Amino acid sequence: MIRKEVYGAIDRLVSSSVHKEDLKLLLSLTEADEVNYLHAAACSVRNEFCKKRIALRALIEISSICTNSCRYCGLNRYNRDACRYSLTEEQILECVSYAADQGYRTVVLQSGEDNRDADSIANLIVSIKRSFPVAVTLSLGERTYEEYKEWRKTGADRYLLRIESTDELLYQSMHTDRTLSSRLKCLEDLQSLTYQTGSGIMVGFPGQTISTIADDIMFFNEKQFDMLGIGPFIPHPQTPFSGCDPGDLILTLNTLAVTRLVTRYPWMPSTTALGSLHGDHRIDGLMAGTNVIMPNFTPSHYKSQYEIYPDKQSETENEERLHLIAQKSSLSIDKGRCDSLLPRRL
Ligand code: SF4
Repeated sequence: MIRKEVYGAIDRLVSSSVHKEDLKLLLSLTEADEVNYLHAAACSVRNEFCKKRIALRALIEISSICTNSCRYCGLNRYNRDACRYSLTEEQILECVSYAADQGYRTVVLQSGEDNRDADSIANLIVSIKRSFPVAVTLSLGERTYEEYKEWRKTGADRYLLRIESTDELLYQSMHTDRTLSSRLKCLEDLQSLTYQTGSGIMVGFPGQTISTIADDIMFFNEKQFDMLGIGPFIPHPQTPFSGCDPGDLILTLNTLAVTRLVTRYPWMPSTTALGSLHGDHRIDGLMAGTNVIMPNFTPSHYKSQYEIYPDKQSETENEERLHLIAQKSSLSIDKGRCDSLLPRRL
């Protein structure tokens, strides 16, 4: 049975009337009928504003070296057991070529904050753009305004930088030597440089509450990001949070659904973390309003070494499996560029 207040909260969000109390109510749902109703409402908003499709992006993890020390991440610089690698430009171009041959029109270059020389990244972007008809998304962490500017000028289209939490204290508990304000500044820089910009959060991090998640969703609404990545917290054994519980699946799915209802247009991945939480829940993510899958094109030898959290889902997706996922979610596959759908961008 679905309570009247749940219908009311969803109706208000669908008509763009956003109140924190409604977000908190919907995030807290656990009863199956109400959860299913919320997720179905998110899917109809996605289908109306983004069409009934899954955008495929080719993910290439170009380096597992990191100078940062995010306390939840297996690649933080204090983890001496982490395997470190850095792909050469030639290796990266091979991965891009393989993805482009398979029809992918977006590549996502992701790495730890490895201090790779900014000019070498710029040269890499030029080489990719010269040889392949693909959009380039970067996910390389916090860098200076000048570096972001140089990469945008040489052809980078998009940038992903998750905020992880907009709550100052929670952010501090996640990071030892970075601040919320520097992350906000980077996001502002990226948007001002006209990158299609993505952000997002982890769900279930120790200390996080329904109220802080609701604040994060209000922040997404205010900033109008082009992409939003939301996945469950998964504890890594070589971090201070090793003994903690992972993020709750239903809360993660509710967060995706409420974010979709509020923000409407973003490309939202069913994240690898969602595919690695006691089984593969990426279809559940799609049934809660997501619309992106990022098959991993990192050379197989290195894939398992990019270990932000343990037991990461990293098997190579074959076409058959992707089509099965699409079919089960009543969506079609789109390997095109799938640029931002925000009205101000069109
Ligand atoms: S989350 Fe990214 S920046 Fe932070 S330690 Fe891990 S790889 Fe480095």
